[in-house]
Amino acid sequence: EVDIMKKAGRIVCDTLCLLEEYIKPGIETIELDLIAEKYIVSQGAIPGFKGMYGFPATLCISVEDEVVHGLPGNRVLKEGEIVGIDVGSIVDGYYGDHARTFPVGEIDEEHKQLLNVTQESLMKGIEQAVDGNRIGDISNAIQLHSENQGYSVVTELVGHGIGTNLHEDPQIPNFGVKGEGPKIKEGMCFAIEPMINLGTPDILTKSDNWTICTADGKPSAHFEHTITITKNGAEILTKNG
Ligand code: MG
Repeated sequence: EVDIMKKAGRIVCDTLCLLEEYIKPGIETIELDLIAEKYIVSQGAIPGFKGMYGFPATLCISVEDEVVHGLPGNRVLKEGEIVGIDVGSIVDGYYGDHARTFPVGEIDEEHKQLLNVTQESLMKGIEQAVDGNRIGDISNAIQLHSENQGYSVVTELVGHGIGTNLHEDPQIPNFGVKGEGPKIKEGMCFAIEPMINLGTPDILTKSDNWTICTADGKPSAHFEHTITITKNGAEILTKNG
């Protein structure tokens, strides 16, 4: 099963690498969605989000103050913005789930730091994803790393188990207490996905009923990997090759 998930993970990783070449000022988010869909299908996989809960697109594209679940459309990316892209794929019934937040052209120091800290928080969480630890160890590592640097953690949305369904138990919050929550065991597969805000943790849903944005209008970043627990710690499945 993990071998199949590695294929799904490789495809979503390659999708984001491909999109990186197109993320430039002037591109419409719908164009990115079409590129991603075409690529995933060319690899013999199925876009993992399209049709899920009625979501109409291949990618969730969330710009600036948008946290997650942004709908691709006619929005044009501008120099200095950040854009979060979340992508799923299905290979032989198994899911891969992966997200990165990209700079559009040159971004300022404040945005750069937000991206760095969010990505670092993800890696700190993954370091705790080892057999015998608990989910709270992952959650706590993410929370500590981001809050210690003055950022806030979105608490209303969480990471999750993953396999033949996109969202499986357990939930993996990006905040929590060390030593609490379900025990982590070899063979489990998780999608860990910190959503970190520059301002307050509060979020709102936009009138399209999909896009989640920050309540204070300040930027937010999102990074996500699908991992599996091995004897030797976590292995990232959403990677190349
Ligand atoms: Mg996810």
